[in-house]
Amino acid sequence: MEQQIKNSVLSTAREMIAGGLVEGTAGNLSARLDAERVILTPASLSYKTMDCSDLVITDLKGKVLEGTRQPTTEMALHLTCLANHADIAAVVHCHPVYASMFAVNREPIPSLIEEFDIHVGGDVPVADYQETGSQALATEVSRHLDERGAVLMANHGLLCVGKDLEDALSVALLVERTAKIVWGARLIGKPLALPESTHAKFSPLYKRSRRAARDDT
Ligand SMILES: [Zn+2]
Repeated sequence: MEQQIKNSVLSTAREMIAGGLVEGTAGNLSARLDAERVILTPASLSYKTMDCSDLVITDLKGKVLEGTRQPTTEMALHLTCLANHADIAAVVHCHPVYASMFAVNREPIPSLIEEFDIHVGGDVPVADYQETGSQALATEVSRHLDERGAVLMANHGLLCVGKDLEDALSVALLVERTAKIVWGARLIGKPLALPESTHAKFSPLYKRSRRAARDDT
């Protein structure tokens, strides 16, 4: 199981690059190994050459338990989200272009498509600006994740969570795709909101899947 999760960290990191969610060594990932331990990507290392021995295992307070490299500089961000939300097991942080346009405008990405409510829980909120790598940023981002699978980080990027890394990555790809659709729709016209009755029907499905994940743990 542990090896499977390590392989998943490496494959998700490469898909993050292939999907255009980050460039170079930017972005970072984490996954829960068990109730006490988290696996994180290391700081400043190319995803193309990264292998399992480069990954870092810490406890939820950040004490390194395994690995020779420094954990990601956003370690506090990952550990705080995982510690505060028992119903998530993986975190993907990335800098996709379209979602980041909303992040620098400090504007939520509106849920204008049904699948967005189902997989993200509704509009993607914006966490207030805090400096990269800080505990203040970690605390601010984490508080937006009670009923959402994604949060924009003001003037920075995007953070997505899920029951595993594949799930968190699919949320990130959906958020970026939707941000692009909203951006384009505003160029060619005026996007219209979904009916409130649709949000009322589909948003609870996301909350239900988070509750089910929590009850499994
Ligand atoms: Zn970042």
